[in-house]
Amino acid sequence: MLKIRYYGDPVLRKKAEKVTEFDSDLEQIVKDMLETMYVNSGIGLAANQVGILKQIIVIDTGTKEKPDIKILINPEIVNCSKEKTEYEEGCLSFPGLLEKIQRPAQITVKCQDIKGNICEFDADGLLSIVIQHEYDHINGILFIDKMSPVKRLVHNKKLSEIKKLSKEKK
Ligand SMILES: [Zn+2]
Repeated sequence: MLKIRYYGDPVLRKKAEKVTEFDSDLEQIVKDMLETMYVNSGIGLAANQVGILKQIIVIDTGTKEKPDIKILINPEIVNCSKEKTEYEEGCLSFPGLLEKIQRPAQITVKCQDIKGNICEFDADGLLSIVIQHEYDHINGILFIDKMSPVKRLVHNKKLSEIKKLSKEKK
């Protein structure tokens, strides 16, 4: 089990580095990230959120009975639709904070799998949203950056509470 980093932790603002070794260490990180995500009832987790500055994302938009796991290593969003969609997003690094965020509806992703094989696929619906949210994480971008100043103001109190929590955890 890895420790989730909360808003206020500088690691969330750093850009993650490309994975170059597709070895058993990577497999272990992915395994630990999945476990951490499930324990915290998340549907996506980026390595920054557990203090690892590598371009690793784990996602499961399925159910307990029918998991739908996606492991994205070194992902790139190579195409975005003009059409936008809005979804109420949460983030394991922002406990208790939910807000509607607008993003492109469809994307094309290029990435590597856990063995280093290159893959490219299209995503829409919830999967597209989760990939974009996690992709932002590995680039040091947070979902509050996508909120209007007014919306952010609304969450000001909650944000300072989370920041405090982040300091206490250290
Ligand atoms: Zn997040």
